[in-house]
Amino acid sequence: MREYRDCLARTAGVTQKQLHALLSKEKGDRTMRAMVLETVSPVEEKPLKLVDLPKPVPGQGQILIKVSACGICHTELDEIEGRVAPSGLPMILGHEIVGRVEALGIRAGKFKKGDRVGIAWINWACGKCCFCLKDQENLCDTAKWTGKDAPGGYAEYTVVSEDFAYAIPERFTDVKAAPLLCAGVIGYRALRLSGMEDGKVLGLYGFGASAHIVIQVAKYKYPNGKVFVFTRPQQKEHQDLARKLGADWIGATGDTPPEKLGCAIDFTPVGEPVREALRNLQKGGRVVINAIRKTTPIRELDYTEHLWYEKEVKSVANVTRRDAQEFLPLAAQIPIVPETQEFRLEEANEALVLLKEGKIRGAGVLKVAE
Ligand SMILES: [Zn+2]
Ligand SMILES: [Zn+2]
Repeated sequence: MREYRDCLARTAGVTQKQLHALLSKEKGDRTMRAMVLETVSPVEEKPLKLVDLPKPVPGQGQILIKVSACGICHTELDEIEGRVAPSGLPMILGHEIVGRVEALGIRAGKFKKGDRVGIAWINWACGKCCFCLKDQENLCDTAKWTGKDAPGGYAEYTVVSEDFAYAIPERFTDVKAAPLLCAGVIGYRALRLSGMEDGKVLGLYGFGASAHIVIQVAKYKYPNGKVFVFTRPQQKEHQDLARKLGADWIGATGDTPPEKLGCAIDFTPVGEPVREALRNLQKGGRVVINAIRKTTPIRELDYTEHLWYEKEVKSVANVTRRDAQEFLPLAAQIPIVPETQEFRLEEANEALVLLKEGKIRGAGVLKVAE
């Protein structure tokens, strides 16, 4: 378990020796359970292993969080299967973390012990590069991402810089708040980038954790707009949920909707919906791709059919702290009602297989503690 200790010491900003000293101080209470990724492999091989690890120690400006819930995200599948490599293995995945502050590192004072906080995908950014200085810390060259470059929330405890933690609105339970932190925040960013306006038609390709939140934001912010939802043909549960949440039209990817799409967001892990969204797009419209990687290629585009008439295509990459700070209060105000399916920490592999198969209704969440 040497590598875990290195990883934890690095994150906590302490040396191995200090870590060891800190750990042996509280012998009775020094370990935590975690589901860790040791080697890249197909998720069906259940690659996450349940292990006991030393409880992390908050470094300067950091807080120690006792995790109560952690959402599961498609990005974990990309990490597990090698499309997005964690910066080191083994790694504790998970970046939709809700928990309570248990200890403060030196010079940490924004939160107090017992406060409920959330952690999202952005774990750290330099604050100095040309991107950070232009409110684009999501593009920072040296940024760290939770559960990829720093241990995440598939564990009983984690640490984070207090500057990258957010207060969670009271309205939400721990489990309901978890999917807001990635599915919600990145969906909010994608909706903003799409150029959606009241009265327009918004197309959503894929209807999982993120899209089922985005439709609720869109219905609230654009009461005279329409939302058209496209799913895989067999995803009846997803279509039922879309209907319940007020979708104005529901079909399968490949269908031609009754009206052109003013803008569209593609949430799927595959290539084809990008072409489909461009094909169905209104003149001057924009397609935003909300995916960190695609598992199948985007086939050749036909200029006349897919791009002519000033159609645009843009990806969304990561999130900024501002996205989270704007979205969380808005989610409480609407209020967003996330549909969640709960799993225990040790069921993470099974939950991720269901996610890959498109069988989770709404968002999957690991309930780590009561
Ligand atoms: Zn995510
Ligand atoms: Zn930067």
